[in-house]
Amino acid sequence: MGELALVLNSGSSSLKFAVFRAVAGDDWPLLVRGNIQGIGTAPQMSAHDQDGAALSIPPATQVRDAQSALTHVLGWLRSRFAAADLFAVGHRVVHGGPRHAGPALVTPEVLSELRALVPFAPLHQPYNLAAIEAAAQQRPGVPQVACFDTSFHRSLPAVARLVPLPAALGEKGLQRYGFHGLSYEYIASVLPRVAPQIAAGRVIVAHLGSGASMCALRAGVSVENSFGFTALDGLCMGTRPGSVDPGVILYLFQGLGMSAKEVETLLYKKSGLLGISGLSNDMRELERSETAGARLAVDYFLYRAAQEIGALCAVLGGIDGLVFTAGIGENSPYVRRRICQACAWLGIELDEAANQAGATRISTAASAASVWVIPTNEELMIARHTGRLLAADGAARRQRTGSP
Ligand code: ADP
Repeated sequence: MGELALVLNSGSSSLKFAVFRAVAGDDWPLLVRGNIQGIGTAPQMSAHDQDGAALSIPPATQVRDAQSALTHVLGWLRSRFAAADLFAVGHRVVHGGPRHAGPALVTPEVLSELRALVPFAPLHQPYNLAAIEAAAQQRPGVPQVACFDTSFHRSLPAVARLVPLPAALGEKGLQRYGFHGLSYEYIASVLPRVAPQIAAGRVIVAHLGSGASMCALRAGVSVENSFGFTALDGLCMGTRPGSVDPGVILYLFQGLGMSAKEVETLLYKKSGLLGISGLSNDMRELERSETAGARLAVDYFLYRAAQEIGALCAVLGGIDGLVFTAGIGENSPYVRRRICQACAWLGIELDEAANQAGATRISTAASAASVWVIPTNEELMIARHTGRLLAADGAARRQRTGSP
């Protein structure tokens, strides 16, 4: 068995990758992290080592699709880690459907089951599966593990899973699944070490990135999240609107005569911060801008975030801790300050110096609930799952065959 695990997160025009060294225990050292952006248009690859130093990499001009993107990455990895072997590939897969409460070893049956879920996540699932297919072709003997963004939320109680349409539609898979589960699972896994005071309590985690959502944790278990049947629901995002009155969607079809494809593009790619501001989906740019559209977009993003915290507090019956994570949550003192100000009614009190300094704990000692900034690490969560599943699978095989 080799010693390296490759983690892939494949999107419509990007392939993110990370390589970890498999060691005993949970904290596998990261060796490289990188991505190819602009697949299908102007592909560019970048990569960093474990210290964040940029690595020199060959131009990605030949990359056209998932298959050639993976060829490019594997070719480069081979030249970098000459003798070492890949023992597994772990994939981020957005949808595991109602069945998968944990990661799954990829088999032809699992793959066809995941293909059937494409209509539930048409802009993500096909690209996740394309990476699995490409890896299976290029490294046929290497086990692959699919890790789902939905699995962590299988603990949602029945009322929270409900889409309140006629019950027969539930049999067609219409239920609330929840997403960003790998991020929340990672945060829940580090809370006992990083914030032991709140790990066993009522915690709201705000994953604020290009996609944005919140999760309510009770003793580290997901009891609610702001996403629903799809990753369109909930908070305002970079290009997605979050919750909208379903009557608006009907009006887009019936009143404005838009096609299903046009509505899909509007909802996934043109709304949210980008649509409101007419300027950008990047919070950094909006924070710098003085335009009325940019101000309104940021205000709406913050308004929805504060509203969602109120809703999740109602579910949890209070709050012991608030955790910020992902691109905006980890890096924007302004967004954190505004959200905490809006939560003053909960007794939350921000330590502004700690907030500006990017400290781990950013609330005052007098704050009724503590506030934290904890970087997420979905790739490490995938690597851990991959290692654990293969170790368990190997043990089960040995038990079945009686071999040591
Ligand atoms: P994803 O993984 O979904 O692409 P990230 O979690 O990396 O998203 O978040 C990306 C977003 O984080 C960017 O679109 C940008 O708006 C935001 N971001 C990154 N750094 C900052 C910062 N210093 N201030 C405000 N926003 C930031």
